[in-house]
Amino acid sequence: MCPYKAGAAWKIQAPAKLNLYLEVFGPRADGFHALETLMVPVRVYDQLCYSSGCESSSCDSSSSGEPLSLRVRDARRGNLGQTQVGPSESNLVLRAAHLLADKAGIRPHGRFDLIKRIPIQAGMGGGSSDAAAALLLANEAWGLGYSRAQLQLVAAELGSDVPFFLAGAPALCRGRGEIVEPVSGMPRLHFVVAKPAAGLSTPEVFRQLRNRKQVPDPLEVNQQTNRLVDSLRHGALASAAALISNRLEAAARSIAPWLTHVRELFQSAGCVTQFLTGSGSAYVGLMRSATHARQTASRLRNRSLSLGVELGHVFATSSC
Ligand code: C5P
Repeated sequence: MCPYKAGAAWKIQAPAKLNLYLEVFGPRADGFHALETLMVPVRVYDQLCYSSGCESSSCDSSSSGEPLSLRVRDARRGNLGQTQVGPSESNLVLRAAHLLADKAGIRPHGRFDLIKRIPIQAGMGGGSSDAAAALLLANEAWGLGYSRAQLQLVAAELGSDVPFFLAGAPALCRGRGEIVEPVSGMPRLHFVVAKPAAGLSTPEVFRQLRNRKQVPDPLEVNQQTNRLVDSLRHGALASAAALISNRLEAAARSIAPWLTHVRELFQSAGCVTQFLTGSGSAYVGLMRSATHARQTASRLRNRSLSLGVELGHVFATSSC
């Protein structure tokens, strides 16, 4: 993820992510769960733009004293409305910019315009990616000169997945997700994704794991993720398929039993394998190629109509 200048404004493309593997260990004292996950960024992007406070088409820096604000637009549905000016607990873009300004000892100012394409409550990390994008834009636009390592520390305060998006590459993530080990040599992977209309709440899905009797052995989990990374690096998709899994999938299905029908539809669609990403509700098929992904997306749309299973938005994408 890299900010670039567009006239007087700064812009950045914030990618989504998919979890190819997610294992959850025990709950921690801080309320989070220790976990290990393999995540890849994918080519579905929100766009975040920062200007010093005027319309981006006719920007000048004279109004840079304007308090920080955010305008959000859904690329598919039009305007989502103007948020309140000032700190907002609900939007990670504003929280990120306010936190960075606090740390730098400056007054936050200017306007963010966010165009949303990443589905929300999908397990695709949209909010976290937007937060990482906001840190990078604010750092550039306000001339703060923070290093990526310094920004990683700020990112971890904002959310478990935010450091992954700052790193901007496939990675094994540990701790509560904020300890990021980038993985090199991964080939491009192709996917078909279905995002049903209903979303899932991450805290609620994690809560379903509360009464688990056994937690997995971190050493075994680590061996499994290393084997998965090796298989993917060598293009051995069948071996990878046997290792891909998500501990949160059964938990999500206990809240949203209709996910079982989504899974069955994917199982009969000829994917290499299929899985829930993060805490859902987006469902993913790993595919052999871009063509395989496009054809399967179209087949899934048709079959969901004829079988009456609500798949929502179905699309092909790939890792980046
Ligand atoms: O870190 P983030 O804000 O994305 O987490 C959202 C919620 O998901 C947390 O408040 C927590 O309930 C749950 N969570 C968790 N363990 C993690 C990550 C998230 O329990 N490692």
